[in-house]
Amino acid sequence: MRKNIVAGNWKMNKTLDEGLQLTSEVVNMVRDEVNSEVQVVLAPPFIHITSVQKLASEQANVLVSAQNCYHEESGAYTGEVSAAMIKSTGAEYVIIGHSERREYFNESDEQLATKVDLALANDLIPIFCCGESLEIRESGSHFDFVTQQVTNSLFHLSEESFNKIVIAYEPIWAIGTGKTASSEQAQEMHASIRAHVANQYRNDVAAHLSILYGGSCKPSNAPELFACADVDGGLIGGASLNARDFVDIAKSF
Ligand code: PEP
Repeated sequence: MRKNIVAGNWKMNKTLDEGLQLTSEVVNMVRDEVNSEVQVVLAPPFIHITSVQKLASEQANVLVSAQNCYHEESGAYTGEVSAAMIKSTGAEYVIIGHSERREYFNESDEQLATKVDLALANDLIPIFCCGESLEIRESGSHFDFVTQQVTNSLFHLSEESFNKIVIAYEPIWAIGTGKTASSEQAQEMHASIRAHVANQYRNDVAAHLSILYGGSCKPSNAPELFACADVDGGLIGGASLNARDFVDIAKSF
């Protein structure tokens, strides 16, 4: 069956020392407190990945992710990082299409489809992010909007490739705002994504897909969100910068 995953996106936070301190605290707490079936994923900035990976490898269910990868294989792209480079550090996941990347770096659905392909070609698990703005939710077109994001960037995949990905539903209006989607709002969108996948592929592909919720998730609301039938974990921003809060979220299944 599908995996329960709690992934922490550190964004552009933490110096190397601070990041290593946070990693060792998370590793120790996960060892003592978190069910070994739950995958705990840390997504530090690129520059810390190798060092974080070394510490994380002490605990089998703590894995490392990049926050992004470039949409070309290699070449003269100063400042960019490829999927192959990420894989060579020992990282196993890569976040693709976070709303901050879509908004501030103009990443298109087509570019994201290429990134997903490159991640899979390099044996990385893409955590593909989708989610609507407040304006779109208020217009009532949020289900269509998210369905379209998923279709545009993922439905070119073969069934075998689709079985390897993870989706994170992150309503933009809930990211970093303290405003969480209610468990009903999260559940109905996750169910809609899963139904859409079942329609395109097969029921067992949809049943196998882990769909994470992201947006002001914290220890106080994680249990209710994770209890929803179609919510398989969380993509955590702010609360992942504090080991106690992050691990408490990972204990919420
Ligand atoms: C995110 O940016 O992916 C996120 C969910 O952030 P926060 O938890 O801070 O809302």
